[in-house]
Amino acid sequence: MLRLLCVTAHPDDEAGGFGGSLLLCASRGVETHVLCLTPGQAATHRGDARSDEELAAKRREEFQASCRLLKIARGEVLDYPDAGLDRLDFYAVVGDLVQRIRRIRPHVILTIGPEGAVTAHPDHSMASLFATLAYHWAGRSNRFPEQLKDGLTPHRAQKLYYSTTTFSLPDRQPVSPAPVTAIIEIGPEFLETKIRAFKQHTSQSPLFQLFETMVRKRGTRELFHLAATATPRQAQMESDLFEGVKED
Ligand SMILES: [Zn+2]
Repeated sequence: MLRLLCVTAHPDDEAGGFGGSLLLCASRGVETHVLCLTPGQAATHRGDARSDEELAAKRREEFQASCRLLKIARGEVLDYPDAGLDRLDFYAVVGDLVQRIRRIRPHVILTIGPEGAVTAHPDHSMASLFATLAYHWAGRSNRFPEQLKDGLTPHRAQKLYYSTTTFSLPDRQPVSPAPVTAIIEIGPEFLETKIRAFKQHTSQSPLFQLFETMVRKRGTRELFHLAATATPRQAQMESDLFEGVKED
């Protein structure tokens, strides 16, 4: 079975840049996983939560509801601090992700671009950098060798993609995204489903209008940048994230 892992920073990141592609992969029999690094407890929009803990608990539920709509085989929210990923022990977080990659053994890994997506949120950038090194180090026997016991072995995922964009938000400083190398046509049905998935994040309801406007502007395409491949090659435009990927 083919497997895909998507690494994000906040509950709701899974819907916007990835939702349609995750649905498309699931519809083709790929086992899809999402690892979200924080429970989003530092969000501006807080619903009726009275504390960070209440908001985190609410957002974990919202994330699972979104994952159900996106047909995610397993979605997990980790417990790293929202708005604090740039202050963590870099090596330790990469090690955590390496261990999870060695367990899940994805063929393809998706994450946000190092620019931090259109919002340039530092957590997005950090998720990108953590996931990038975890992609590279999970396959090397001399990185985190202490994990290599009880049957856990190095795992080289075949491709790493960054989500990317061709526009910046009008009211924010522009970002410098990675060039588009894969255009995934998700179709109108999955576009509607990913908007519904985003709307499972009810604590973030003040953002629904902005999200829907942005996502409809982007239309039925999701854009990615191929950042690394296990088989070296020249850049070429792709329309399928699993193009050239071999089952084990
Ligand atoms: Zn986010």
